[in-house]
Amino acid sequence: MPRACCQRCHRPEGHCLCALIPRLESRTRVLILQHPSEVNHALNTARLAALGLSNAQLLVGEVFENLAPWLNVPGYQPRLLFPGEGATALTEQKVDSEHTLLVVPDGTWRKARKLLHLNPLLAALPRVTLESAPASRYRIRKAPAPDALSTLEAITHALETLEPERTFQALLRPFEVLIEGQIAAMGEETFRRNHG
Ligand SMILES: [Zn+2]
Repeated sequence: MPRACCQRCHRPEGHCLCALIPRLESRTRVLILQHPSEVNHALNTARLAALGLSNAQLLVGEVFENLAPWLNVPGYQPRLLFPGEGATALTEQKVDSEHTLLVVPDGTWRKARKLLHLNPLLAALPRVTLESAPASRYRIRKAPAPDALSTLEAITHALETLEPERTFQALLRPFEVLIEGQIAAMGEETFRRNHG
């Protein structure tokens, strides 16, 4: 039987991270589209991002039937955080310009591509990518690419690029604690052997 979980952060009882999750304001709106295969993953970093940002939403699904109202938000310009032809580097967003609706597919590369394929509205959005992203702290899970960031890290970096006058580092705190906990549970020795 699975142990009881916190309803909010979905962590097992006794490992709840809610006390570490901030509630940060942002001009940028964040819409995370999570593939169902990510929902029950122990390191559900997309959920940490959605909980930590007051202007963020997380939708779970594969085919999103009614996506248009989520993408067409007055005053916001939707941009898909995903590489592709014509993708431009994300840059600072001036305070008085139209705000960004950052649309973030969450899943492995394969699953994220599938989300785009199944949802043409997503695939049609202008794309942005991160420049000079920091190295990932996501050392546990096999990353889809050597320099790939977790969804939470990517969102944090994107927000700090768009809104350099603010810091979003507090978003990463529950993630860091989660990783430290996983390393401790696994044993440093095993961790180094498998991930060093
Ligand atoms: Zn919790």
